[in-house]
Formats: sequence, C-alpha cells, structure tokens
Amino acid sequence: MRGPYFKGQTAADCGHYYPDVLRIMDFKDDCRTLRVYDCRECGGFVTTEVILSEDIVTPRDVRDIDSFREKEIQRLTTTPG
Ligand SMILES: [Zn+2]
Repeated sequence: MRGPYFKGQTAADCGHYYPDVLRIMDFKDDCRTLRVYDCRECGGFVTTEVILSEDIVTPRDVRDIDSFREKEIQRLTTTPG
C-alpha cells in the first residue's frame, strides 16, 4: 500500500492517499453535486457531497492522469518537511 506521502496526510474515503486518489471533476444533477475521483488502487469512484461553489474542481484530462500523479508524488516526496 502506498502513502501517506507526507506527515499528517489524511486518507480519502476509500483509505488511499492523494495523489493516488485524484479528484477528476464535479458535476451537478437535480439537487446535489457529485464528485468523481480516480483512485489507482480502487479504480474510479464517485461520491456525493455538498460542495461549496469555490471548491469546484477544474475537470482534469484523464489521459494525463498518470503523468500528473507521478509528478505530484515526486513533488510531495522531495519537498523538505
Ligand atoms: Zn482507493
């Protein structure tokens, strides 16, 4: 099992850690906002949350997700502290 990648990091709902877990996008249906995650341990999953408008995630190009993840892991594991 990977992660946590820095001290004090909290796991996502599935028990894995960013950036193994990435928020892909948010979308609204009639009365709620759904948040789509991709976890490389679990595969993609969706949660339903009440999300503040300023917290809306920019949709991410899923074709780039693996390279983005690798970059984030490197950044997190090489930053002092
Ligand atoms: Zn997971």
